[in-house]
Amino acid sequence: MSDAPVVGHYLNGHVQDRDSTRFGNVFNPATGAVQARVALAEPGTVDAAVASALAAFPAWSEQSSLRRSRVMFKFKELLDRHHDELAAIISREHGKVLSDAHGEVTRGIEIVEYACGAPSLLKTDFSDNIGGGIDNWNLRQPLGVCAGITPFNFPVMVPLWMIPLALVAGNCFILKPSERDPSASLLMARLLTEAGLPDGVFNVVQGDKVAVDALLQHPDIEAISFVGSTPIAEYIHRQGTAHGKRVQALGGAKNHMIVMPDADLDQAADALIGAAYGSAGERCMAISIAVAVGDVGDELIAKLLPRIDQLKIGNGQQPGTDMGPLVTAEHKAKVEGFIDAGVAEGARLIVDGRGFSVPGAEQGFFVGATLFDQVTTEMSLYQQEIFGPVLGIVRVPDFATAVALINAHEFGNGVSCFTRDGGIARAFARSIKVGMVGINVPIPVPMAWHSFGGWKRSLFGDHHAYGEEGLRFYSRYKSVMQRWPDSIAKGPEFSMPTAQ
Ligand code: NAD
Repeated sequence: MSDAPVVGHYLNGHVQDRDSTRFGNVFNPATGAVQARVALAEPGTVDAAVASALAAFPAWSEQSSLRRSRVMFKFKELLDRHHDELAAIISREHGKVLSDAHGEVTRGIEIVEYACGAPSLLKTDFSDNIGGGIDNWNLRQPLGVCAGITPFNFPVMVPLWMIPLALVAGNCFILKPSERDPSASLLMARLLTEAGLPDGVFNVVQGDKVAVDALLQHPDIEAISFVGSTPIAEYIHRQGTAHGKRVQALGGAKNHMIVMPDADLDQAADALIGAAYGSAGERCMAISIAVAVGDVGDELIAKLLPRIDQLKIGNGQQPGTDMGPLVTAEHKAKVEGFIDAGVAEGARLIVDGRGFSVPGAEQGFFVGATLFDQVTTEMSLYQQEIFGPVLGIVRVPDFATAVALINAHEFGNGVSCFTRDGGIARAFARSIKVGMVGINVPIPVPMAWHSFGGWKRSLFGDHHAYGEEGLRFYSRYKSVMQRWPDSIAKGPEFSMPTAQ
């Protein structure tokens, strides 16, 4: 469909697509139709983006943090004004329901709000007279040109985990969004320019592996933030660090929710429905395994079934819908393949979402809510990230077995425990080997001034995203010791300096 509009790059303050020779299809997942074509960058486009960022860096990094934060204040105001437009773009290209898309925009804006405090956030420590008339203080200086490579499932929020903090710390930034839902990146770029960001400080390069590899190898890129699946996260971390870059690479997940026998089961069932089927399971914090402790399994299933029955599945742009389609036909086939495998491996399929179709939108990429019981740890259904509306129930005899099971899993992004017992809650939070922990909270996504990240093979690198960890990632620590000539009393010193 060659007359579909082209989603281009954003270089040096302008949209550009004239030089593109390769394009990807952008679908409307609710109808299956191609609605746009995204330009796929060649290395030359990446070079142009880096050149414009490098040229902008000296002036931007020399601006005071107060001036940089003022751009964020204005950006926040513009994001608020374009909230509906951003949510509509997300829903149209990703498929998630509009209310969820609004929530995504809000969570992204919260990082911008946090970044508005840059002068205070970048303030550092000072020690007066560490000895011999010397004062010692720290600086956090910008790295230079940073790049972000982001996944399809949060086309606004995940880029906003990176962009505001990278910019207020004084860096220039190149975003390579997912090629599946690229349009929101251009609106954000335009709003940043409108907010007063100088041309070249923020650039967008659309593309696929070709663009990513060019970013990984570019000698003038200092740091890479990645969010996506684990195999690619590991690749990015390995390649990026091999090319001398600072890298944080957030990967995939398989999040468990323990349901203890003393839990409020109505609350737990509501939480599971939202966390397993919200956004059609296409969230790195989705719950895909419920761990039913003791004899709670049957009652839990009895509470889940009517709730699944009531789910309204359809075009996410229509109000009142609870769950939309998956992002592509390819992904739908993959998710249905996992359901086939679960049946073949012996799990008990209680609700089957395969072959689901929405009247009037038969070509949409829908999979219905799916529920398995008797899932065991050897099954692919248990081990791998499905990233679809598929919830499996594992039954265990006690809390210790539940914790051991979760700690043995290769992923450690999010986890939750529903209980009324404070002792269990405390033991859970302390012993679980997972980065983000919810107690009677199904999707524990930390607030903007905390930080987001998993453990084990859910994160490669040393820093979590946003919050204090984000600022640290986007700045280089320098420690300065200073004294003035009139305080120098001694001649040369040949032993290690110590406080006097
Ligand atoms: P993905 O790994 O396929 O793609 C992520 C990015 O990498 C995209 O920009 C894509 O263009 C690029 N990419 C894809 N294949 C590549 C390759 N071979 N070489 C270089 N670059 C490549 O992920 P996705 O399908 O877009 O997103 C879903 C995944 O992201 C899930 O695994 C989900 O758990 C994960 N995710 C993790 C977090 C987190 O915070 N841990 C948050 C959101 C999503």
